[in-house]
Amino acid sequence: MDSSSNEPIQLLSLGAGVQSSTLALMAARGEVGPMPKAAIFADTQAEPASVYQWLDWLEKQIPFPVYRVTSGSLTDEALRLRKNKTGRDYVKSLIPAYVFSPEGKKGLLGRKCTADFKVKPIMRLARKLGQVPRACKEIKVVQWIGISLDEVHRMKPSRDKWAGIRWPLIEKEMTRNDCLNWMRRNGYPEPPRSACIYCPFHSDHEWKRLRDKEPDEWLKAVKFDYDLRAIFKQETGVSALRGTAYLHASGVPLDKAELGDIPDKNQLSLFGNECEGLCGV
Ligand code: SF4
Repeated sequence: MDSSSNEPIQLLSLGAGVQSSTLALMAARGEVGPMPKAAIFADTQAEPASVYQWLDWLEKQIPFPVYRVTSGSLTDEALRLRKNKTGRDYVKSLIPAYVFSPEGKKGLLGRKCTADFKVKPIMRLARKLGQVPRACKEIKVVQWIGISLDEVHRMKPSRDKWAGIRWPLIEKEMTRNDCLNWMRRNGYPEPPRSACIYCPFHSDHEWKRLRDKEPDEWLKAVKFDYDLRAIFKQETGVSALRGTAYLHASGVPLDKAELGDIPDKNQLSLFGNECEGLCGV
């Protein structure tokens, strides 16, 4: 649909993982419609090389443009200490790392990365493409989210009155496996799993894959894990955080963590519960 008409424009949120890639290719082949005006990929600048290579390939297969938007480097922001008004240090774009208190209690750091580095840049461009006026209460943009049937609990309503949401894979009752089968049936290669290389939501299976198949990216994740602890060092006394942060749920450095052979043995894949349909799809 043209934005000059009164119809809302259709935009695909492209995470460049299995589900949203399948959705993009299904749209390209007319199996789901209407044809999106564009896809938007929010780049944290921290995806593994395999995802960027996949995206380069994918955008050549589809007739609509893929816009890459970014809020900058999540790696830099997640490790940048800022000072609040009272002089305490804080990190604005927290990633959901595990934190262990001095008493041994385990929690999560909190998560601002999805909002700051995925939702905001996507909605900024969606607003522009949909020519959405200020205080608009009418739906101008329909955002397609690639959540599959096995992830219905990730469906969330839009926070913006001018944006509607569609979950076309759920409309078609397709699971993640159905997406993989669809890709195979149609002669496409298997998409990678999209997520930041150091995402604490990785299952052991995904950590192992990174270590064994993308060793350079694994080394970056290991370095990030050490850097994270360095900035949150409790003995400096400057951090708002009481405890020690780790990427792996077991509370040991990533390169020392025991990664089980059984997927998700030590660390559940928490993507389903936490990532709002914008990371990992
Ligand atoms: S993939 Fe993980 S670290 Fe990256 S933005 Fe999403 S939740 Fe945050």
